[in-house]
Amino acid sequence: MACIFCKIASKEIPADILYEDELVVAFKDAKPIAPVHILVIPKEHIESVADLKDNHEVLAGRMIMVARRLAEELGISENGYKLLFRVRKYGGQEVPHIHLHLLGGARLSENIKPVE
Ligand code: AMP
Ligand code: ZN
Repeated sequence: MACIFCKIASKEIPADILYEDELVVAFKDAKPIAPVHILVIPKEHIESVADLKDNHEVLAGRMIMVARRLAEELGISENGYKLLFRVRKYGGQEVPHIHLHLLGGARLSENIKPVE
């Protein structure tokens, strides 16, 4: 059974898609935590950054370049933004299909502390 982001990539379930090419899809996060909150995912099912292989170098680069271009197009580039990969359990990753968060449109707080 395909994972939820595989289903978004294959249009089995709807998402607000902003960009798509042969390798990646970018769509709005359903529960945004910033004025601009977009997820960039590969069409290929890869669980996390920790599961990338050497042959994924072009794909990983594409994800960053797409986020960069969307930031430019959405007018959040000059002030700046965050790019975030959560990785597995301690990184707080909830969806096990690698995704790059593009977060911006406001100054964002730092909140990276060990949980008690
Ligand atoms: P993470 O905690 O890094 O795994 O982030 C998963 C993100 O996916 C969260 O920000 C969710 O709001 C988002 N998300 C989960 N399901 C969907 C969906 N069907 N469409 C859009 N975003 C989603
Ligand atoms: Zn998947």
